[in-house]
Parts: sequence; C-alpha cells; structure tokens
Amino acid sequence: MLKTFRTIALAGVSAVALMAPGAVLAAEGLVGIAMPTKTSARWIDDGNNMVRQFEEAGYTTDLQYADDDIPNQLAQIENMITKGVNVLVIAAIDGTTLSNALDNAKAADIKVIAYDRLIRDTDSVDYYATFDNFKVGVEQASSLVKGLKERFPDVKPWNVELFGGSPDDNNAFFFYDGAMSVIQPLIDDGSIQIVSGQMGMDKVGTLRWDPATAQARMDNLLSANYTDKQVHGVLSPYDGLSIGILSSLKGVGYGSGDMKMPIVTGQDAEVPSVKSILADEQYATVFKDTRELAKVTVGMVNAMLEGKEPQVNDTTTYDNGVKVVPSYLLEPVGVDKSNWEEVLVGSGYYTKDQVE
Ligand code: BGC
Repeated sequence: MLKTFRTIALAGVSAVALMAPGAVLAAEGLVGIAMPTKTSARWIDDGNNMVRQFEEAGYTTDLQYADDDIPNQLAQIENMITKGVNVLVIAAIDGTTLSNALDNAKAADIKVIAYDRLIRDTDSVDYYATFDNFKVGVEQASSLVKGLKERFPDVKPWNVELFGGSPDDNNAFFFYDGAMSVIQPLIDDGSIQIVSGQMGMDKVGTLRWDPATAQARMDNLLSANYTDKQVHGVLSPYDGLSIGILSSLKGVGYGSGDMKMPIVTGQDAEVPSVKSILADEQYATVFKDTRELAKVTVGMVNAMLEGKEPQVNDTTTYDNGVKVVPSYLLEPVGVDKSNWEEVLVGSGYYTKDQVE
C-alpha cells in the first residue's frame, strides 16, 4: 500500500531521534525516474547517478528511458503513477505534454520534480533542479569569442552561424538568450556577422537535439552561403550537435590546408567531444556535473518526505506558464583545452584514460 508522506515523515523524525550524529537517514519510498534518451551519455550518467544516490539514501528506484518518444515517456510516467511511486523525477522530452498525467500524480499525492528541464503549463510540479541555463549560453558564447580571437586574430568581421536546441525544451531558449547576450553586442559593433542571416530560435532550433538535423542544416548553410568565403565560428548548444556540425565542416575541407577549423562550441563534456577538443576540432564544451544534480534532487526528495521545505536558490526565473517553479540552480563550467584536465579529471568525473 502506498504510504502517505505524513507516515514517512513521522517515521523519518523518529529515526532521526535515534540516530547517531552524522549517520545517514535511510528513507523509505519508491522514486520514479523518467529520462528522455540513451543516445546522449549525459542522460545515462544522470540516471546512474540518481539510482546510486537514491539507493544509498535507502530509496527504491524505477528508472525508465523513453527513446526521445513523447507518447512513450507519457506511458512510462502513467505506469509509474499506477505503480504508486512516492515521487516522480522527470527530465521531459517535450516540457509541455505532461499536464494531464501530472494532475493525476498530484491527485494521488505524488510529488514531482522537474529534472534539468522545466515542465511547463502545469501547476502539478513542485520543484525544479537544474543548472543556471542562461549562464550555460553565456559560457558557450564566451568560449566562441575567446576561440575566434585566438584562431582568427586578424579577421573582421568573423563569419558565424548559430544553432539552437530543441524548441520543445525550455532550456534551449535560455541557452540561446544567454549566448545572444554576448553575441548581439558584437554583431551590433560589426565584429561578428551572421552570414546566413538566420537568427532567433524559430530559425536556428534543432528539433529533439538531433545531430543529423544539425549536420544537414550545416551542409545547407555552407552550400548556400560559403562558396566564396569561410565560416569562422559556429555556436552549437550541445556536444551531439557539435559532432554533426564538425562532420559537415570536415566534409567540405575545413581543418585542412588553408581552411582553418571554425570555432565550434558545445555542452555536456561528453567523451567524444572532449576527445575532439584534444584533437583541436571542437573548441569548447560546458561541463555540468550530473553527480551534483543528482545530489540536489535526492536532497529535495529527502526534505519533502520529511515534511520540510527543500533548499532552493531561485524563486523568480522559471515561470512555467502557470507558476514560478522554485528552483535550485547549479553552476555550469566552460571547458576547453586549457582547463579540461583540471575540471574533468580533477573533479573525478572522468579518468584521464577515458578521454585521451
Ligand atoms: C540539457 C543539456 C543537453 C540537451 C540535449 C538539455 O535540456 O540541459 O545538457 O545537452 O538537453 O540533451
């Protein structure tokens, strides 16, 4: 039978009273974890980190991946609700499609945490655990500019193309806006030119973050705009897209002879992209420590089950269309060839052997 939060909270309180200081409280409860896809390593890490940390804290988990298929994710969540989970932790594929299912969750007293991606258009989401998504975009654009100055010091204007993430993912707009807060002033002062003229998420978005879509768009951008000039930089919001964009660039000769590789950004510090950075292809990425995000999430769940308010550090930014969802934002870290070892190996996220 599904235990109510009150029962669990009371059990938690009495357990705490008996526990030695510093001991870990073994919580009770089943946590449903709905992740979008296994095609990107970061979500596999997220899932594994959460299962490990929730189990260490005494929870049972049900982890599901939805192959980036919206009906599939909806069915998985409905199934978790039927099973009687106490908490749902959801990284949504499309942040706008879960309202009905989550209303049912709320009616069954199930708590809901939006994980990394905001769940939109519903009152039935309790907390949001994520990174400072605007800052991710700022980091991406700052590394783009750093790279342009380094690799193309004498060029003006720099020819740049922009890529955005999936328009059904609220994060994609934050990444784009953060990046444009750095890039727009440089367009205005003539340092950067968007040669295709394609700007704005409606023109540069990449549905479902699909690398093949980005590669095809880069092919088109090159054949339509760059037969008589070279591209110097490409803003890419995610490592998977960056790999597709780099294939397109290499396909027409960039990275050899007098065609220097353009500065290509990224996000997630996935292993193929770190290797690409070390090989002087991708220029930079953004590291988001999924161990920390799992920790914040487990902390939120613990607090809710103990009847306490989870710790948040942002109560103004993430309006989901119905309410501002109280959030905890972690810091993203820009990574390039100058600091990869310190950040990625030094933090124990990867061993040197994994990326070299
Ligand atoms: C995440 C990024 C990720 C992207 C594609 C976004 O919601 O915040 O870390 O690169 O999805 O999976």
